[in-house]
Amino acid sequence: MLQEEKNYTKKNVGELKLIERITLKEDLNLSGSEISINQIPAGKFVPFVHSHKRNEEVYIILKGKGIFYVDGEEFAIKEGTVVKVDPQGERCIKANSEDSIQFICVQADQNSLIQCTSEDGKIAETKPPWN
Ligand code: ZN
Repeated sequence: MLQEEKNYTKKNVGELKLIERITLKEDLNLSGSEISINQIPAGKFVPFVHSHKRNEEVYIILKGKGIFYVDGEEFAIKEGTVVKVDPQGERCIKANSEDSIQFICVQADQNSLIQCTSEDGKIAETKPPWN
């Protein structure tokens, strides 16, 4: 029996504060980006510097404070900081000694976005049941 195809995939990842690292590409069958939800405990850091071959990354800091490193430069990050790093940027991230840091990282093939909200979105005729 064929399963009805739906236009969405969902997952409950649970309490964000309990997550160390979750990648969503497989669970959500993402086809244009990789998204991860990450937490680094207070005083800890990603144990390597890395770059990418093709993907740019956007780090969205949700909670905590820390230090971001790119190509020999360091700067403070905190809730609300958003950092985009080009593929070749050599990056690392560290939580400060008092706060764990939570962030979402979105990676996508650099220069692959050919349209976005204003050109790609379209208003549907449908109304949600609460409207
Ligand atoms: Zn990366």
